[in-house]
Amino acid sequence: MNQEVPIAVVGVAGRMGRMLVDAVAEAEGARLCGVTERPGHPWVGRDLGEALGGAPIGVKVEDEPLEVFARARAVLDFTAPVATVAHAELAAQARLVHVVGTTGMAAADDARLDAAARHAVVVRAGNMSLGVNLLVELTRKVAAALGPDYDIEVVEMHHRHKVDAPSGTALMLGEAAAAGRGVELGQVADRGRDGQTGPRAKGAIGMAALRGGDVVGEHDVVFAGPGERIILRHVATDRMIFARGAVRAALWGQEQKPGLYAMRDVLGLG
Ligand code: NAD
Repeated sequence: MNQEVPIAVVGVAGRMGRMLVDAVAEAEGARLCGVTERPGHPWVGRDLGEALGGAPIGVKVEDEPLEVFARARAVLDFTAPVATVAHAELAAQARLVHVVGTTGMAAADDARLDAAARHAVVVRAGNMSLGVNLLVELTRKVAAALGPDYDIEVVEMHHRHKVDAPSGTALMLGEAAAAGRGVELGQVADRGRDGQTGPRAKGAIGMAALRGGDVVGEHDVVFAGPGERIILRHVATDRMIFARGAVRAALWGQEQKPGLYAMRDVLGLG
């Protein structure tokens, strides 16, 4: 009997979708059981291998997630907020592990993911890499150790196609810094300075986003104090770090009770 966990990839034509297919293929204990794209996408109906420019692999790109989810025990979802909330309901009905990498979700979208997590395992992270999740823990500790005399700025850069800002990772880092200080990011975040801003507010956490070229993802957390600066930095050079993390979350989730989990749970950093 085949013990491999059947995994579906939604949004397979995307930058991350393609990586997720490779990550499932290289992972032990996982196999690809189906892939989707949005209705109307030119890949729908085609063999995935051929759509990727190679030989056929016998996996057809579909546009009906319900049918694909019926064959799966986990779904890897790096698409767009409107698609991810629709997938969350279907994944919860089918009791699949839903691994959500999509960023830029609004509060109403978060509520729908929370509702889905009452019935199924949802693992959600703005960044699925081990390095960034370690950086999050370090940021929390450094922020707690230094106190409000050190100004905190989170600076990120991504490729020119990214549609949301600040990045999901920058928000994770900002939230960790805020948690280290015992405050809520929403109350202290200073986003998008422009014009006559006046001096920096004490205790603010600044967020700045740069966009350009093919940058996979770079994040700095700057602690600027009197006479010194500490800079914590993560540089992603290969999207496979996120894809491998997602597959790991899908396998880990098979053994968990329904609920909303973060990558720190998967990695045992909690
Ligand atoms: P992308 O635009 O290249 O890919 C998204 C894909 O989803 C597209 O091919 C699109 O056609 C498809 N899609 C949209 N609606 C769909 C639907 N209803 N059904 C099926 N497919 C649908 O974007 P990307 O660079 O791959 O990033 C995707 C998301 O993942 C973004 O939100 C990004 O910020 C996030 N991301 C997260 C991490 C992480 O570690 N959490 C890492 C990288 C990117």
